[in-house]
Amino acid sequence: MHPQDDPYILGDEHGFWADTAADRILDRDPEEPIVIKGGISPSGVPHLGNMNEIVRGYFVAEVLRERGCDVKQVFTSDDRDPLRKLPRKLADLDGDIVDLGDVNAGALGQNLGAPYTAIPDPFGCCDSYGDHFSTLIAESAELLGIDVEMVSNTALYEDGDLEDVTAFLLENRDRAREVLSEYQEKVDEDYVPFRPICESCGHVTETDAVTAIDLDAGTVEYECADVEAGDRTIEGCGHEGTATLRDGKLPWRFEWPAQWRALGVDFEPFGKDHAEGSWPSGVDVARNVLGDEPPVPMVYEWFTLDGEPFSSSEGHVVLVQDVLRLLEPEAVRFFFSKDPQRARDFSIERLDQLVDEFDRMEAVYFGEVDTDEDERERAERVYPLLVDEIREERIRIPYTFAAVLGMTDDPALREEIARREGHVPEDAPRWAVDAALERVERAREWARRTDNEFNYDLKRTELPEHDFDADTEAALDDLADYIEAEEPAGEDLQGEIYETAKRHGVDIGSFFAAGYRLFFDEDQGPKLGPFLAKLDREFVLQRLRRNQ
Ligand SMILES: [Zn+2]
Ligand SMILES: [Zn+2]
Repeated sequence: MHPQDDPYILGDEHGFWADTAADRILDRDPEEPIVIKGGISPSGVPHLGNMNEIVRGYFVAEVLRERGCDVKQVFTSDDRDPLRKLPRKLADLDGDIVDLGDVNAGALGQNLGAPYTAIPDPFGCCDSYGDHFSTLIAESAELLGIDVEMVSNTALYEDGDLEDVTAFLLENRDRAREVLSEYQEKVDEDYVPFRPICESCGHVTETDAVTAIDLDAGTVEYECADVEAGDRTIEGCGHEGTATLRDGKLPWRFEWPAQWRALGVDFEPFGKDHAEGSWPSGVDVARNVLGDEPPVPMVYEWFTLDGEPFSSSEGHVVLVQDVLRLLEPEAVRFFFSKDPQRARDFSIERLDQLVDEFDRMEAVYFGEVDTDEDERERAERVYPLLVDEIREERIRIPYTFAAVLGMTDDPALREEIARREGHVPEDAPRWAVDAALERVERAREWARRTDNEFNYDLKRTELPEHDFDADTEAALDDLADYIEAEEPAGEDLQGEIYETAKRHGVDIGSFFAAGYRLFFDEDQGPKLGPFLAKLDREFVLQRLRRNQ
C-alpha cells in the first residue's frame, strides 16, 4: 500500500494526532470546504463507541478551522442497507436501552431484507427505523456540541447524487469485478456492482440479481432471488422487474468510494474492521476504477466498556445521552481526544479517574499545577478544543467529593460543605458555583448506577438516634482524636478502626455498626476507613464525637 494510504501512521508520540491528520490533509492542497466524513450502518444501537466516527473527525475539523480553513463535517447514515437480522436491543430517543419485546417489533420481522429507511420506526416516533437511528446519532453529536451535517444514504440515491457513479460502475463492470476480485472471492462473472430494490417485496437484492443493463435508458432488469444473511436466508419473491439506478444500492465496497466522490471527502476516520477490508479495496476502487484520489484515512482502535467489548445485542452499550447524565460534555470530548490508535477502556466504574484526568488537564492549562513541558504543551494544545468557552474562573469539585456531596439532598448544604472544604473560592462568580454544583447530580447518578460506596444516604443534618456503651463511646472519641491528629489516608484509617476497637475491647462488628449508625442511621455501609477519609473532616470529627 502507498504510504499515504496507510491509515496507521498517525502515532501520538509527537504532538496531537489531529494536527498530524490536518497536516496530511493540507499536504494535498484540498479544495474548500474541506470535507470530513464519518458514517455507519443503522444496525443495533448508536452507542458511545460509534461516536468515534464523529468526535475524532471533530478534532481534525477544529484544527483545520484554527488554521483558517473552511471545513464541513458530514456523517452518512448508511440507511439504504438492508436489515439482515432482528436487533435484540434498541434505544429509545432518550438513549435508554429497550428490549425488542418492549416495542412494536412486528414490523421489523416483516421487513427483513428491506432498507432501514423503508421500515417503520418500532417506537413510532420517527419516519422510519433508519430515521430513528439517525435522529439518535444527530442528537448525540448535538449534545457534545459538534456541528455535523447528517446525510441519509437513501436520500443520496433518491436524489440522484450517486446516479452518475453507479452508471459509470455498471459501464465499467468488468474493470470493477477485476479490481474487487482481488479482495472478495464471491466476485465472479454474475457479479454486478448494483443491487436493485425489488419493487414487489421491497428487498434489497444481491449482486447477482441483475439480468440485463440498459445504460441509455438508465435501468437494469433483475430477478428477486434469495439473499444469504449470515447463517440464514432471506427469501426472495421471484419477481422479475426493471429498476432505475436510483432504486437500489451499490455494494458497500463500491458504495464507500462512491460516497467519497459524491461528497468530495478529504478525510475519514474508521474502525479497525475497515482497515483490513473495505479500506484497501476502497483505495483500489477509487484509484483504479473511478480514477479518484481516496481521502486521508485514519484508523481508530475500538475501546471497551468496563473491560468488555461494546455489544448492542447483549445490551452492553451506553449512549451519549446516557453518559451525559454522568459526565460533562467536555469530559466526554476529552476521552475522545486521546490517541485514537491506543486501545483503552471506558470505565463507568472508574469514571472518577477520567474526570480527574480531565480536571488535571484544565488545571495544567490554567497554570494551577506544576508539571513538565510535555504535559503543559498537551494541555495548551488540546484543552481549548474541549470547552465551548475558556473561562479561568471555572470551578471543578473533584468528582468523588461531588459524589460525597451527592449523599446529601439539600442544595444549600452541598454548597456550604463545598465552600467549607475549600472547593469553592470565596469570590467565585455565581455562574461558576452553579456550574460546579451541577457535577454533584452527575456524581450522584454515578453512585446510584454503580452502587459504589457513595450510594448511601448520609445523615448530615441530624445526629441519628443511637445507644452505645461506654467502651464504644470511648473508642469513637479515640478514633476522632486519631483522625484529627494524623489526617490519615483511607487504608490507614481502616486499619486504625480495627486497632481502636481492639484497644477498647469492643467487638469489631459492633464498632463498624456504630460508625454506620452515626453516618447513615443504618447497620451497614461502605468500607468505612476509605469512605471517612473522603468526607469533609470537620463533619467526621463532630459526628464521631456525637456533637451534632
Ligand atoms: Zn423514533
Ligand atoms: Zn422481491
